Amino acid sequence: MLFYGYHSGYQRRGVFSREYVFNNLGRFGVNFNGDGINLVSKRYLVFQRSVFCVNCGIEGLYFAKERSAKRIAIQIKGTGKHRYEFRLMNGSHWHLNLYALRRRDNGTYKEVLMTKDHIIPKSKNGEDTLSNLQTMCSTCNENKGNKVAIDLRGIRTFGQSLDRPLVYEMLQGSLDLNEIRGTVLQSCVC
Ligand SMILES: [Zn+2]
Repeated sequence: MLFYGYHSGYQRRGVFSREYVFNNLGRFGVNFNGDGINLVSKRYLVFQRSVFCVNCGIEGLYFAKERSAKRIAIQIKGTGKHRYEFRLMNGSHWHLNLYALRRRDNGTYKEVLMTKDHIIPKSKNGEDTLSNLQTMCSTCNENKGNKVAIDLRGIRTFGQSLDRPLVYEMLQGSLDLNEIRGTVLQSCVC
């Protein structure tokens, strides 16, 4: 589990429970280990309504504080040669991404980014309103593309949510992932 470092093009600095995020929705400058984040985007409201992917049922378990890790090349002056160093691009702001865990065949887990999906795609004039948005994992979202409008809200129901404090303890590294593997598997309909 990655708490700090670089992940899928993002720089990561810590993970946070869903409760902390959902309890502070609508507020500006909420403190996440020293960084103020505005919890006012529609994405958070969509996740608050459901943390489950409407298609496969995988459950968003925790938020990670991340920002784009795009790097730019800067020429090093004074060397007389064309030498460059790479620096993190400025202006990429910290935000929170919701992640699920999908079990691989070898028993380890892969993080899956949760996204807000437009039921009627934007390319087909679907609106950017809450009534046209649903939670979907990035895997299902990529498979869906722009082709089909599926709205499964309220039609499919999934298993009980994981014991939340347990998940958070796991994320803090105080529990061995193996200990709760059974619990995670019950929850992931992958
Ligand atoms: Zn999915």
